[in-house]
Amino acid sequence: MTAPPAPFPVRVEVHVDNGLPAFNVVGLPDASCKEARDRVRAALVSSGLAWPSRRITVNLAPTGVPKAGAVLDLPMAVGLLVACGEVEPWAVEDLAFLGELGLDGSVRPVPGALPLVDAIEVAGVVVAPENAVEARLVDGPGVRSVPDLRHLALALRGEEPWPEEAAPDAPDDPVADPDLVDVRGQRMARFALEVAAAGNHHLLLIGPPGAGKSMLARRLPGLLPDLTGAQSLEVARVRSAAGESLPAGGRPRRPPWRSPHHGASAPSLVGGGSAAMRPGEVSLAHGGVLFLDELGEFAPKVLDALRQPLEDGTVRVSRVDGSAEYPARVLLVAAMNPCPCGGSGAPGGCRCPEHVRLRYLRRVSGPLLDRFDLRVEVDRPDPLDLLGDGIGESSAAVADRVAGVRRLAERRGVAANADLDAPSLADAGPLSAEASRLLEASLHAGRLSARGLHRIRSVALTIADLTGREPPLGPDVVDTALGLRIDPFRTPGIR
Ligand SMILES: [Zn+2]
Repeated sequence: MTAPPAPFPVRVEVHVDNGLPAFNVVGLPDASCKEARDRVRAALVSSGLAWPSRRITVNLAPTGVPKAGAVLDLPMAVGLLVACGEVEPWAVEDLAFLGELGLDGSVRPVPGALPLVDAIEVAGVVVAPENAVEARLVDGPGVRSVPDLRHLALALRGEEPWPEEAAPDAPDDPVADPDLVDVRGQRMARFALEVAAAGNHHLLLIGPPGAGKSMLARRLPGLLPDLTGAQSLEVARVRSAAGESLPAGGRPRRPPWRSPHHGASAPSLVGGGSAAMRPGEVSLAHGGVLFLDELGEFAPKVLDALRQPLEDGTVRVSRVDGSAEYPARVLLVAAMNPCPCGGSGAPGGCRCPEHVRLRYLRRVSGPLLDRFDLRVEVDRPDPLDLLGDGIGESSAAVADRVAGVRRLAERRGVAANADLDAPSLADAGPLSAEASRLLEASLHAGRLSARGLHRIRSVALTIADLTGREPPLGPDVVDTALGLRIDPFRTPGIR
């Protein structure tokens, strides 16, 4: 299945006259859209409905815009039913239809039903049963679903009621987020996860293979609050536009987790591409976590493409025939080895020459590195932690504190502390004189940029919120924030 381009309503006009039997579709149909002829004919015949042995012309308006996919099968069949007098024209007035047809007359779901339904302004829309939940997420037309053409014809003629829908049986978001309780030791990294979740601060984990970076990152969604109603709808829209399935109830409840491979192309990461106007991974992660494992292995130009969406929280995807905008507000988490051999944590340590190590780190550009408010080292777990039976705190306990900090942020007018601009940040988290001096010293020592200074202050506020400190922010929270933002080029621990 390919994802549809930006949706627009299509008017399907059917004309039947007494020429030689033929079936032509005009109005820039693509190959699969032209094949509708065969599907529509087979579906009507196997449903026991009339098939005119006459000259049929189907026009798809607006005629100048290309039409793709099989979504127009159903409206073409309905147009023919009307043209042949099987259904009265008034019965389909102000109705839209979308669906693919099986040769047996069944109505099949189409990818991206939500944005399709969103694009039409009518009183009612008829879809396949599998698309009904998705279609109903749109606050617009009434939704009817039919399993096949025969039932549709009967309902349109008023001879039978519209078919009942089976209640969805699968629960929402059936897969539970992995729990922090499984992580032994790793105090620093656990705290960094908590701060990241609480303030929506992007997080970079640096450490050798086997240190558990991915395991830690995978536990981040479980610390985030449920999606709000509006976020849930946005997440559903993006997934639908990408042709991905939605939970049975239609609306996802938990924040998404996306983990694209380091071989990913720029279009697959940020959206677009030649094939379709598909949202990218950064949009599919909207409202949740985008995890980039092996950050140093991503192509630099692919990572560059990510900078704008991270800055704007939105992506505009353009093609010759239109453009679409997708949301892209994510919590970015990345993991990288400290060097190509990844051996700094192993006995004997790293064998990479200094210039090789630095070249490896430079694959991640300074501006992207700057996006990570939190940059922490993760070492292989201490064997004593693995053997001991002391279990760590559960995700639920941490998520409680995270939710508390998010509520404070809401009172400040943002979703999370990372979103505070400079004046609001100064207002919410003024610095004590001593904390100011500490930051000035870091600035003078060249350890902090002006942008870095702002980020440190917002992380310090999140730490203060998490630990119940009242403003002004003292040197202790600022010091902790500085400690959570190492410079991989300078930190001696990272060789
Ligand atoms: Zn090495």
